[in-house]
Amino acid sequence: MNQAVIPDFFRQILDQPVNNLVDQAQEQGKKAIAYTCSYVPQPLLSLDGVFPIRVRAPGVVGTPMADTYLSSVICSYTRSVLELALEWAFDSLDGWVFAASCDHLRRLYDNLDYLNKPAFNHMIDMPHRGGAAAEKWLTEEYKSLGAALAESFGVDASPQALSRSIKEHNAYLSVMREISKMRKQDNPPVTGAMFQTLLAASTSAPKDMVMDELKALLARLRESNEGKPYRARVLLAGSHCDDPGYIDVIEKTGGLVVAERTCTGSIPALAPIPENDAPYETLAGQALANISCPRMMESFQARVDEILEAVEEYRADGVVLQTMKFCDTWGVESGPMVQELRKAGVPILKLEREYTMSSEGQLQTRIQAFLESMGK
Ligand code: SF4
Repeated sequence: MNQAVIPDFFRQILDQPVNNLVDQAQEQGKKAIAYTCSYVPQPLLSLDGVFPIRVRAPGVVGTPMADTYLSSVICSYTRSVLELALEWAFDSLDGWVFAASCDHLRRLYDNLDYLNKPAFNHMIDMPHRGGAAAEKWLTEEYKSLGAALAESFGVDASPQALSRSIKEHNAYLSVMREISKMRKQDNPPVTGAMFQTLLAASTSAPKDMVMDELKALLARLRESNEGKPYRARVLLAGSHCDDPGYIDVIEKTGGLVVAERTCTGSIPALAPIPENDAPYETLAGQALANISCPRMMESFQARVDEILEAVEEYRADGVVLQTMKFCDTWGVESGPMVQELRKAGVPILKLEREYTMSSEGQLQTRIQAFLESMGK
């Protein structure tokens, strides 16, 4: 028997809001750029000389300072990030890039600008629907970001440089896809909590500093022949969920998370990016076609279909739809989404959560009841 485990290397990256690998890359002269939303394209923040850090807020136990500045109906991810920013936890980062994807993140941008102004603070304006005009708009927005990065950090933001960056990012995506594909097996060697640890760690550190470890892990996983026993296969859907601990509770209760259709999960984040000589246009087209956050109008059915396809592809027995409290985009979508999935015969459990997990026992009870309702 040979059961793979996730090396401490990845777990340790997640312990701090800004980890040692970021410090090391900065010592080598690279600039760390924070981002908070999937509509900010990682390859654009990976041009030679800069690297992206998806912001997490580990260790937050309360948000007294952020509560002073944010309305009481702002989601706890936004609140937790502002709290750490006001504790100067992100001061070593060189800049922030936001997408105007939801009002909560817009308020984070405003408050950072007002309270602890980053040297570089950029907002990408986001259209609310797809189509040719929207693609043109977003292409211009991404080009403006490229120009701003070139001006502030002296990076080469030419289409040729961006194409090279996309190629390198595709190499990372390919390794992650190979690992994720193993979750389709009957007895996968990688659990959902393990996979979320890899995803969160590799988006919280310079990619070139984690690639060797990822490839070595992929090789070990291929040799592994023992997975964790489980009662039911679960697809995790919904809003931001970067905490492997949340998934771990689902798995300790008997549900194996085989894929995540979330802002921070495997679908659609691991889709390869076409390599061509129009990289800005390609990133814009792909963001509008693939990411499909509930903030996008006229694409509800596409999101339902995407979840149904993933349920089939990963042979999920049911869906856990988790939404962050006060997340209005997912809050509005989740009611009709539950109805549509039930109509299609897919068992679904809807949960509301805070960014930091506070009641593990309650979550276990809900999952236990859900598995029993499926006869598992
Ligand atoms: S969880 Fe919802 S409200 Fe919070 S940042 Fe994400 S999309 Fe915005």
